Amino acid sequence: MNRIYLDSAASTFVSSEVLNEMMPYFTNMYGNSSSLHSFGREANDALDTARERIANAIGAKPNEIYFTSGATESNNWALLGIANFYKNSDKKHIITSQIEHPSVLETCKQLESMGYKVTYLPVDSEGLVSIAELLHNLNNDTLMVSIMSANNEIGTIQNIKAIAQTVKERGVIFHTDATQAIGAVNINVKEMGIDMLTLSGHKINGPKGIGALYIANNVNISPIIFGGHQERGLRGGTVNVPGAVGLGKACEIACRDIIINSQKLRRMRDYFVDKVMETIPYVKLNGHKFQRLPNSICLSFGMVEAEALMMMLDLEGIAVSVGSACSTGAVEPSHVLKAIKLSPELAAGTIRITISKSITKEDIDFVVEKLEVIVKKLRAISPLTKASIGEFDNV
Ligand code: PMP
Repeated sequence: MNRIYLDSAASTFVSSEVLNEMMPYFTNMYGNSSSLHSFGREANDALDTARERIANAIGAKPNEIYFTSGATESNNWALLGIANFYKNSDKKHIITSQIEHPSVLETCKQLESMGYKVTYLPVDSEGLVSIAELLHNLNNDTLMVSIMSANNEIGTIQNIKAIAQTVKERGVIFHTDATQAIGAVNINVKEMGIDMLTLSGHKINGPKGIGALYIANNVNISPIIFGGHQERGLRGGTVNVPGAVGLGKACEIACRDIIINSQKLRRMRDYFVDKVMETIPYVKLNGHKFQRLPNSICLSFGMVEAEALMMMLDLEGIAVSVGSACSTGAVEPSHVLKAIKLSPELAAGTIRITISKSITKEDIDFVVEKLEVIVKKLRAISPLTKASIGEFDNV
């Protein structure tokens, strides 16, 4: 069966350019980057190159890039590391948003249990954080603000520069989870005023299990993983050299190809959405109409059970996700769909389609054909009626 993968926000394949760059570090150049002999030095040189590539991709300095095991660890570190460093200060307030990834939200809950007050900013129906709301909540106790650059479920891209500048003007530390934004949104941490930034390899055609945290040189942070003196004493553990090499190459390519990839993805994304809207009634497109990741299509189908839709598409070889892949298995509607105030009935019929640049119009035509048939079948057995559901973009 011809399989079609439409879940790039969950993970991507490792591109051949990236894999080729990584291979020697599994086989010939396997030294520990902390070793002082030639094997260690060549591994360390590879880390230097990777750091430089990542730094170039986001406008940082190489010595501001720290390797981690992925975005989850980077997000945990950004929040817990700052809280630990400033544990004796009076500043015990943190601001984030209601639509962050669980690796931020669960860490914030942990901070609440440690005595911090956390404000979870609401978003509008398109998923945007309001600067006025942010300003209203910033106060003399605020230690840091963490707002994601782009959302993994609905694709909305925040006004990060305006948010960062608002935060910086008040002398507060600003962190952004840019896991989904790298390669899709131009980021320059210095121009934008970002103090810390999270990124991950496997969302940008790099390997899994590797990520980075950018920490501006003037930001003080404590480690959360203790052990060796790696990563300037801030993150213990032998560095995943092949992973870091892969992440460096993936960042370089993602930023090199940002314009061409985004243009192609946007064209295909819009073709996909238009085709669905023309073919299937009672559908809502979630997220911001324009300020949205070029690969992201989050659709709510009225009178449809999303899990059933996802499984029936899977039987046809088509892979999509229900809400966030990270929260699959949860019975509750996703926190993001709740935050944009989607009705529970529409949230229950919501799937996320995230395309890659290899998608063709023929793939899209095939998927929409299958979608139409499956949605009809599911609607025929649904106890819901269109009157009970809420607003659609088409009827
Ligand atoms: N943040 C966002 C916005 C994400 O989409 C993800 C992955 N779903 C993560 C963090 C966690 O990434 P990782 O798998 O690298 O831990």
